[in-house]
Amino acid sequence: MKLLLVTPRSTDKKPPIGLKIPQLALHILAALTPSDIDLTVIDEQMDEIDFEKHYDLAGISIMTANAPRGYRIAQKLKEKGTRVVFGGIHASVLPDEALKFGDAVVIGEAEGIWPKVIEDFKNRELKKIYRSEPFDLNHSPLPRRDLKLEPVILGYKWPGFFTTRGCPFSCEFCSVSDVFGRKVRHLPVAHVIRDIENADSKIFLNLDDNVVGNPGYARKLFEALAPLKIEWGGQSTIGIAKDEELLKLCYRAGCRGLFIGIESISTQGAARFQKTLKTFRENLDAVKKIQDAGILFHPSFVFGLDEDTVDIFEKTLDFLYKARITTATFNILTPYPGTRLYHRLKKEGRLITEDWEKYNHSTVVFRPKKMTVEELIKGYHFLKKEFYSLSNICKRIIRLSEISNPGLVQFFYAVFNNIAGRQITLESVPNNYKTFA
Ligand code: SF4
Repeated sequence: MKLLLVTPRSTDKKPPIGLKIPQLALHILAALTPSDIDLTVIDEQMDEIDFEKHYDLAGISIMTANAPRGYRIAQKLKEKGTRVVFGGIHASVLPDEALKFGDAVVIGEAEGIWPKVIEDFKNRELKKIYRSEPFDLNHSPLPRRDLKLEPVILGYKWPGFFTTRGCPFSCEFCSVSDVFGRKVRHLPVAHVIRDIENADSKIFLNLDDNVVGNPGYARKLFEALAPLKIEWGGQSTIGIAKDEELLKLCYRAGCRGLFIGIESISTQGAARFQKTLKTFRENLDAVKKIQDAGILFHPSFVFGLDEDTVDIFEKTLDFLYKARITTATFNILTPYPGTRLYHRLKKEGRLITEDWEKYNHSTVVFRPKKMTVEELIKGYHFLKKEFYSLSNICKRIIRLSEISNPGLVQFFYAVFNNIAGRQITLESVPNNYKTFA
């Protein structure tokens, strides 16, 4: 039996140069696939699918933005007689839509049910829907690191690892707790360490939504990571700045950069995201504490909230300069299907399109409340263009040395992210949006 496992890219075009986010779902599914199966695993960020080859079965993991590409891949494969199973957050939320393009859908985490899907396929008993319960991470297999799916940057492998699933919160714009459950589950620390050792790299990305979501577990994990002398980046909440001891431990464990969703610099906007630090000053102080600990602070912002007015873009720039931020991510609010935000905007008649390819964080797919659609697009591009101007990038890279003891990860991350940010910005900014009127 020939099996293909795929994570599609978001568009038919190859992605631009820049940091690729390492995936782990395929490594784990591969580990759960019986060894007698002829397995091909493709992460489309890096590799191409060979459509000339015949596969008996394909597993395609989709999120909303790459779902249309995933459906096109399925159509091509099915023309050659391949049967297709969809999984991932988008298929879990909209199984009926995925079934129009595939033969079966796995709803929820695939680990618990994947061996059954393969067995049913072999017995010609493939069902349309497979519903899985949140997986007991104590039984998680070690990811197949021998598949060499990791992005390579300047000769350095950049593997991902994870430790935690589930989220106790239920933010309006997010479907994590609906898909992965509200109970937070952790991998045993010893399992994480074994996986990291198997991955044979000194640079990693921690794929957890919040590396300090459970401070007790985080302490144990950080203490076990410290002797490995690896460097890694991850995601956290800005609240980590309140616990200086945990912050120091995080650095000693190898953390050199944190991606943190500030989301909005306006107090009203921050309140919508239930942020513990809401004011401009509180956020500035927290950024300084994290940077002083030797950790690169990569904030992420969302624009188009009901509270946002056109001055939000200038205010955000002001914050970025005052906080001496090296790299940042800017998103237009995106109401993913399955979230409470999606249902609210749909009910209010504010959704402009349900073309999922446009649900990519840089296209306005709904009518904002206190701006026009054009004002939101213009302001968003104005901010990106200013932040990623050549002179600003140079200043930021030179300033990297001001962060205490900047490591290899920080240097790579800052350089690649700024180059990629500038490239994407230049490609996407319409000429008439050079200035913000
Ligand atoms: S945004 Fe973060 S905190 Fe909110 S539900 Fe999603 S994962 Fe949890």
